[in-house]
Amino acid sequence: MAQQPLNQTWDLDVFFPGGSSSPEFKRFLDALTEDVAAFGQRLEAAGVPGTAADLDGWMPLLDTFQDLTQRIRQAGAFVSCLTAQDMADEGAKLLQGRVAQIRAALGNATTLLDHQLSAMPEEVFAALEARPECEAIAYPLRERRLRAAMRMDPQRESLAGDLAVDGYHAWGQLYGELVARVQIPWEAGGRTVHLSAGQAANKLLDPDRAVRVRLWERWEKAWAEQADLIGAALNHLAGFRIQLYKHRGWDSILSEPLENNRMKAETLEVMWDVIDRNKGIFVEFLSRKARLLGLDKLAWHDVDAPLGGADTKMTYDEAAEFVVEHFGRFSPDMARFARKAFEERWIEAEDRPGKRPGGFCTSFPLTRQSRIFMTFGGNLDNVSTLAHELGHAYHQSVMNDLPQLAQGYAMNVAETASTFAELLVSDAALKAAGSDEERLVLLAGKAERAVAFFMNIHARFLFETRFYAERAKGLVPVARLNELMVQAQKEAYRDALSEYHPHFWASKLHFYSTGQPFYNFPYTFGFLFSSGVYARALEEGPAFAQRYVDLLRDTGRMRVEDLAAKHLGVDLTKPDFWQAAVDVSVADVRQFLALTENR
Ligand SMILES: [Zn+2]
Repeated sequence: MAQQPLNQTWDLDVFFPGGSSSPEFKRFLDALTEDVAAFGQRLEAAGVPGTAADLDGWMPLLDTFQDLTQRIRQAGAFVSCLTAQDMADEGAKLLQGRVAQIRAALGNATTLLDHQLSAMPEEVFAALEARPECEAIAYPLRERRLRAAMRMDPQRESLAGDLAVDGYHAWGQLYGELVARVQIPWEAGGRTVHLSAGQAANKLLDPDRAVRVRLWERWEKAWAEQADLIGAALNHLAGFRIQLYKHRGWDSILSEPLENNRMKAETLEVMWDVIDRNKGIFVEFLSRKARLLGLDKLAWHDVDAPLGGADTKMTYDEAAEFVVEHFGRFSPDMARFARKAFEERWIEAEDRPGKRPGGFCTSFPLTRQSRIFMTFGGNLDNVSTLAHELGHAYHQSVMNDLPQLAQGYAMNVAETASTFAELLVSDAALKAAGSDEERLVLLAGKAERAVAFFMNIHARFLFETRFYAERAKGLVPVARLNELMVQAQKEAYRDALSEYHPHFWASKLHFYSTGQPFYNFPYTFGFLFSSGVYARALEEGPAFAQRYVDLLRDTGRMRVEDLAAKHLGVDLTKPDFWQAAVDVSVADVRQFLALTENR
């Protein structure tokens, strides 16, 4: 790596100099606003192509659409970087609003474009697909056509969309407002403070169990106090969804989330099935952790509680070196990419006040660069985050030369490259660990992640499936929601816990997402899909690196079953792949159990 220390702040001037008061960026948004409006008018004027000959005039609209999409992505990436690096930047907030407006205008034009794709006669569409310039986007175009056809006619869809603003989406937003009211009294330093839900959630990870126990009671109580209103929001949001699906003729509550994630119902069933059959060892992990904490069984709030032990620290430069080195053992290309990101200031890692919490990776398609946001404090979690976000950036980099329409990957494969990169680095950290204490902490972290994907998210899935079935028959009262939740948790955790979280349906934002229905199983799919790919990389070594890139490049233009068949030679509707994937986590738990046998 470079001789002098790495710069820990990112370079945004290369995109638009001057931050939130950049005149270039203002001009960029002005031009984009005009071009989006003009695009809508051109689409309306063009109408649905009725013959193959009409396509000559219609095709340029597709190019314009892709160009506008890249430009709005560029703008969106820039403002999300600005708002994250300085939460007090008022100018950035105004820009964010402007970008949202342009995005909504482009969204309306997109609905019209999709309608034209679905309304053109099949022989015209076939002629479109057969054009050489459409080769790389044939699948995404066919998919847009099919998805539009699965909906109601454009007039009724547009009515439903308009009503959803103050109906469906409004219930989701109301949830946000109800959560903001949650206040949990807490005595600290001789006075009582009121913790927000977010603050309390962090405090529930306190190493002192007495703190967790005391807070837990208040946590449940705070949600119980808001449960009538939150329960109403959940019931109405779900009712809206059920009605809409009925009018679209969709018979299953899973139709939309499965279609969004380009996967089959069988795949989902087999995945949960394999997880179910492997739960025994994770129950053992939970009971071992209970013993280490001096308990008979863990309560809900103990599952992710820290075990204590050694805390390894690294400087930012050491972390960079570590990540590059271990990427390089699998793929020199990935290592080169990461080195470039560190040296060319693609990463904002400085530990300073005023930054947004958390981490993300965002891409600037016009410049073909990404930016990573995080706050580096020197612990191993931070090193994992660096690897994770660099994985996202690498995924984007191998897709950069594809047409925009072929770059859209779904949520369930979005974490493939990030989780993969994280696994490369966390396994390396495990091997490099200097003591059993360190190894124990790292292994527990890995096992807890697996428990979250296999048990916690499983509980959410079971709850949601059952709740929607009951909701189709009528409103579901709060007491019943609690009951359904505890039932799902007991089942998903195999009765391994001493205490559950009845109001989890109220405290978990994901049940209220209108953008992503069933915002749960795609996480588990993503984790396991990536683990399965990783298992293959361990088997085949660096020889797999090019095939890995080929797989990533296809994530935006294939169904997941086809993706896995083409690049891994496996059938996702059969258990084998999933078993190999679960085995990656099982191996971690076995190591943990061996290490703690006599403690
Ligand atoms: Zn991620």
